[in-house]
Amino acid sequence: MDDCIFCQIVAGDIPARVVYEDEDVLAFLDANPLAPGHTLVIPKTHYETLDEVPPEPGEMMFAAVHYLTPIVEDAVDADGSNIGFNNGAAAGQEVPHVHGHIVPRFEDDGGSPIHAVAG
Ligand code: ADP
Repeated sequence: MDDCIFCQIVAGDIPARVVYEDEDVLAFLDANPLAPGHTLVIPKTHYETLDEVPPEPGEMMFAAVHYLTPIVEDAVDADGSNIGFNNGAAAGQEVPHVHGHIVPRFEDDGGSPIHAVAG
């Protein structure tokens, strides 16, 4: 997808602070981090939302989230993390290339847990 900003990152056409890469998955620091170490994990292939992702790349993406979460937490000395997907525009997805957020959390950081969104 030529006009997809995350596909342009995968292609190396726009810069990103890459923290992990394999054949199927790329992870890079969020440009507008909610916390130090806020990391995005994407399939290299363009899929807009999670329901479009075939099982195998989906498994690779979640495996990368699983692998990277403790590494990201260690890197910024976090006490935990919120991990989430804004899936679809109605859920606040602004970049239409499926991506998982790893948002490091710190004791008493004043942030909101994911369930706060759902009330
Ligand atoms: P939201 O902006 O509501 O979190 P998304 O779930 O679609 O919506 O998240 C898109 C994320 O991509 C945002 O956190 C944004 O800061 C990040 N982002 C946008 N452009 C870039 C970029 N060029 N490099 C890194 N992160 C980016």
